[in-house]
Amino acid sequence: TPGLYIVATPIGNLGDLSPRAAEVLSQAAVIAVEDTRVTAGLLRHIGVKRPMTPYHDHNAAHVRPQLIARMGTEAVALVSDAGTPLISDPGFKLVREARAAGHAVVTIPGPCAAVAALTLAGLPTDRFLFMGFLPSKEQARAETIAEVAAIRATLVFYESGPRLAACLAALAAGLGDREAAVTREITKKFEEAVTGTLSSLAARYADAPPKGEIVVVVAPPDPPAPASAADADAALAEALTRLP
Ligand code: SAM
Repeated sequence: TPGLYIVATPIGNLGDLSPRAAEVLSQAAVIAVEDTRVTAGLLRHIGVKRPMTPYHDHNAAHVRPQLIARMGTEAVALVSDAGTPLISDPGFKLVREARAAGHAVVTIPGPCAAVAALTLAGLPTDRFLFMGFLPSKEQARAETIAEVAAIRATLVFYESGPRLAACLAALAAGLGDREAAVTREITKKFEEAVTGTLSSLAARYADAPPKGEIVVVVAPPDPPAPASAADADAALAEALTRLP
């Protein structure tokens, strides 16, 4: 059926490609991809050959109208190199314009590193804020961290190994020394989650930048300390002295 299909792909373990994702990819007239070599590997894995067209930040404005035009009569799929399109990856303008043009937009959900990291971290998941990548410049990074310091939610950041220690130190400075988890290589052979305070994690990785792909999950701020029972007794005693 014609339209735009947003297809999530594995973040490391090819076994995570859903049967529905494989079916949609095998029937797409064209697959918009970040990197043709990466998606070619995935298609090979499922024994499928389909036309691909690169769609990334540098050519999106030019390619988007062509993809929108085709969606009226053909199935156009969008994938990222890994995980869910639109999540720290291109696609939201394509979805917006496909909708505006009246085309069907269908999602085939699946792996997403941010959600997978939350399932490993052992930190509260009732409220979380996805922050994507922090700016790499020190001042911009500190400003971004300051903006979210008061938010009562678990925070989720994408990071790279070389920047990890500096990121953790900046988080400790801006948020206070909260509990956190560094999750790495999720669904791959060396999947791990290392937990600790932000400062202890910063120290751990300072001289040993880890390899691979990383998601940092940070606990929410402590709730404001409730007035202690002693405080409540004192306040009550004081109030009683003023009763007639
Ligand atoms: N769209 C993707 C998703 O749904 O997760 C994310 C794309 S973003 C450009 C890539 C970043 O996601 C990496 O730098 C890393 O922070 C995170 N990531 C992707 N795969 C991962 C994995 N297997 N383990 C840990 N982090 C991963």
